[in-house]
Amino acid sequence: MNILAVGCHPDDLEIACGGTLAKYIEQGHLVVMCNIANGDKGHAVILPDELKSIRAREAQEAASVLGASELINLDVPDLEVDSRNKEIISKMTNVIRKVNPDIIITHYPKDYMTDHCETSKIVFEASFSASVPHFYTENSSINHIPPIYYMDTLAGIGFLPQEYVSIENYIEKKLKALECHKSQLKWMLEHDGINFADFVATCSKFRGLQCGKAFAEGFIRCDAWPRIPTKRLLP
Ligand SMILES: [Zn+2]
Repeated sequence: MNILAVGCHPDDLEIACGGTLAKYIEQGHLVVMCNIANGDKGHAVILPDELKSIRAREAQEAASVLGASELINLDVPDLEVDSRNKEIISKMTNVIRKVNPDIIITHYPKDYMTDHCETSKIVFEASFSASVPHFYTENSSINHIPPIYYMDTLAGIGFLPQEYVSIENYIEKKLKALECHKSQLKWMLEHDGINFADFVATCSKFRGLQCGKAFAEGFIRCDAWPRIPTKRLLP
């Protein structure tokens, strides 16, 4: 299968579905990771231009740890992710057409900040547009409307998974990928006292508790015609 995972900022995919992506890859599936925002405002001291390139490097390292085939960044500045922006919709549509995914993983429509919620809307709209032949982008239309699975919210708030993926054998890889995002982890630890690796491991452990595994990640299906699959698509 072709899997397209669309996170808002560099590090969001590692946090919410890094173990699942690693599992897909080990099973021989092709995984393309895509971030819409460039992460340029995720630091209180490093200025946006410098941070943007640091975060691009960190994201590339993390994608390599997971074994993704490709990492794409749509280079939208933080806090400017907007589902009414037709250029962003067009860019996302083009990516979906290029990957021709059997499944798309992205943010839940109600997450903790607007960029994430807008990413969810962008993916929903662009994945429909991707199937419309006369919606023109560089890549031509695909012949189906892909199923979407929403990944967990930050800290799992307001999110009760319908499906779980055991990541017992992938938690180490998930955390190793997360650790590539040094600009974020170091900053949060030194200045906010938040151990983000522990935060993410705790969320995975809690989802594991819910499904009888040591570690897991949870997902909710996007139930809209004609996206509902007749077989399990998660690994
Ligand atoms: Zn984010």
